[in-house]
Amino acid sequence: MNLSERKWCGWGLKQGPDLLKDKRDSFWNWLRELSGFTELPHTLPVDINSISLNEPTLPSTLISELETKISQGKVTSEPIERIIHARGKSYLDTLALRSGNLPDVPDIVIYPKTKEEVIGVIRWALFNDVAIIPFGGGTSVVGGVNPIKGQNHIGIATLDLREMNRIINIDTKSRIACTESGIEGPHLEKLLQKEGFTLGHYPQSFEFSTLGGWVSARGAGHQSIRYGKAEDWFVGAEIISPPGPWKTEAFPASAGGPQIKDLIPGSEGTLGIMTDIEFRIHPLPQEKYYNAYIFPSFEAGVEASRQLMQTNIPLAMIRLSDAQETFFYTAMQMGGGDPSSLPQFCLMLIGLEGDSPCITAGRQIIEGMFANYQAISLGEGIADQWFKQRFLLPYLRDEMLDYGLGVDTLETATRWSKLLDLHETIHKAIRETIENDPDQKPQFPIVMAHISHAYLDGASLYFTFVFPRSPKDPFQQWHRIKNSASDVIRYHKATISHHHGIGTDHKPWLAGEKSALAYELLRQIKYQIDPKNILNPGKLF
Ligand SMILES: Cc1cc2nc3c(=O)[nH]c(=O)nc-3n(C[C@H](O)[C@H](O)[C@H](O)COP(=O)(O)OP(=O)(O)OC[C@H]3O[C@@H](n4cnc5c(N)ncnc54)[C@H](O)[C@@H]3O)c2cc1C
Repeated sequence: MNLSERKWCGWGLKQGPDLLKDKRDSFWNWLRELSGFTELPHTLPVDINSISLNEPTLPSTLISELETKISQGKVTSEPIERIIHARGKSYLDTLALRSGNLPDVPDIVIYPKTKEEVIGVIRWALFNDVAIIPFGGGTSVVGGVNPIKGQNHIGIATLDLREMNRIINIDTKSRIACTESGIEGPHLEKLLQKEGFTLGHYPQSFEFSTLGGWVSARGAGHQSIRYGKAEDWFVGAEIISPPGPWKTEAFPASAGGPQIKDLIPGSEGTLGIMTDIEFRIHPLPQEKYYNAYIFPSFEAGVEASRQLMQTNIPLAMIRLSDAQETFFYTAMQMGGGDPSSLPQFCLMLIGLEGDSPCITAGRQIIEGMFANYQAISLGEGIADQWFKQRFLLPYLRDEMLDYGLGVDTLETATRWSKLLDLHETIHKAIRETIENDPDQKPQFPIVMAHISHAYLDGASLYFTFVFPRSPKDPFQQWHRIKNSASDVIRYHKATISHHHGIGTDHKPWLAGEKSALAYELLRQIKYQIDPKNILNPGKLF
């Protein structure tokens, strides 16, 4: 991990890929027209060296005391470290970083190397009333790593766990591995694949996010149908909390009362720091087959997805774009297009992974089934291109921000029987809010969605929206869009998040999603384990 190679206020590496290549000029021209700009504005981030930060509020004597418990040089109050740990990677986080207006940054950043050091940090924080922000890859898109402290806290320390990245054990018989929680995606997969195994968890943020972050946020990888969401492959963990270190249950199955381990996925660093995590692994698949199909409508694609999920073939992924998303990505390849004559057809990418005979049988079932929907196979080339580029799209967001645009995503999940209705109403809510923006009206708002993760009983919907950024108050503009979509999600009794988590951004809708009793139970558990609220204050609860 070399942080100096990574962007401080955007996605990925400084030397990132060029997705647009020779389509660059026509693509930006097209977006300019849709956004209603006569000329694309230049809205670049401030220079990191020009940002002035408040002095740390933690007394230097306390920092010196902490330094005796941590490896040399692994406690820092360097301005650059405080800035890059000040936010995650949400649209709001990125706006805040780019503006350089950062009234709240951690006082110090700590890079523990061992469990014992984490224990030392938590004891020190507990004794001195310091808020601790657990930080994995910092790719949270819900405000999950933002430095917030309670009234009783004298300062904030961010605990960056990426130096805790060792593999502890691979139990090939039981197909369970154990590693430290700060290991990043590529490193983890490399170690597992060397032994012939995979976890199979590939979120779009795979390259820069960590095992601990995946579990904490109940994340989902692209191939979650085959490998499961984080809460499915999570087996157990060792956790450091204010009362001390503890381990969750980690049985193959148990009737020993409610399982406390179920509290950990989704706890977002509020109940303890996971140091070691056990998780299920799979032998590398003998074969992978990815193909692209065109469906005559979103409705037909949704129905085919549901039917597919209720068969027994080795599905790894179904990704069904709606007509708007299909159009947008086609236009991106072509460098433009006319959105007023939007065709209704929809792209579906489908992935199978597993043993070769099962894949062969699966392909036949798909072909037979899809013929009933008048779906047309586009061949493996398009799917292959998606596979190769699947981690690259987020780089485009930074360029959009450079050109006065805003872009964000949101996601939810609901049952098959409610999915089309929810899709339509969220679409409408986002589009109308963008269209009626008091400061900045687009020619044509870009709102698009896809089904990204599917289940027997339902699926997730993932929306992307692009809009001209309000020059007056882009933060309020975002809140208007977010609130309108989230209220629709709540009204339709869908979940406020399928895989991004709660953090700060989804907190207003969480209590409504749980029953009053369930929410209060969770709050009481948090209070029992962390009465001084030193662990990631202001998140989740
Ligand atoms: C471009 C982009 C694409 C994304 N795509 C996906 C996707 O496809 N699927 C998906 O699920 N998510 C996605 N995300 C969201 C994000 O990557 C996930 O939430 C991811 O799981 C966060 O991992 P992280 O290591 O970066 O955790 P962080 O962002 O550092 O932390 C997330 C939360 O976990 C807590 N935490 C981290 N490590 C620990 C630990 N060891 N112990 C206790 N608490 C801890 C933090 O305090 C925080 O509350 C995407 C984000 C971006 C920016």
